[in-house]
Amino acid sequence: MTGVAAQFCGRPDAEFKAQIEADMPGVKWGARRAVLCDLSPAAAFIAYNYNTPVDVAEFEREARRILDEMKEECGWMYETRHTDGKTKGRINYTVWSDVFVCPECGKELVFWDVAVKDGEVQDKFGCPKCGADLAKKSLDRAMEVVLRHFV
Ligand SMILES: [Zn+2]
Repeated sequence: MTGVAAQFCGRPDAEFKAQIEADMPGVKWGARRAVLCDLSPAAAFIAYNYNTPVDVAEFEREARRILDEMKEECGWMYETRHTDGKTKGRINYTVWSDVFVCPECGKELVFWDVAVKDGEVQDKFGCPKCGADLAKKSLDRAMEVVLRHFV
């Protein structure tokens, strides 16, 4: 951060400059030559990267190239078929939800489907199968038991 402060002295943004001049009247602005060292390789790495100029256009080109390469290699993992079974769509997000068992009728219910309305989890909600009034506290998780026999 000493290096960052030294750089700011050379080219402060207007807000920072006004704030410092209010706190320290008579401050002299101009480039500083900071010599930075640290015993920690990680700290030295961080200091180097905070204080080394970046070619923003080159960075953007390289980031775009990597993203395109990843899209080409892994993009299929984020595709799904629409309900028409023909056209493909891109998955923006996936919601994982608990599955519970209704204590009244014994049917499984997906928590997200029955308890979330307009993005808010409801304290009470109804069982879509039997209509029983439910709350998350009163539900048991549905379990799937898989037995494997190893020889
Ligand atoms: Zn039920």
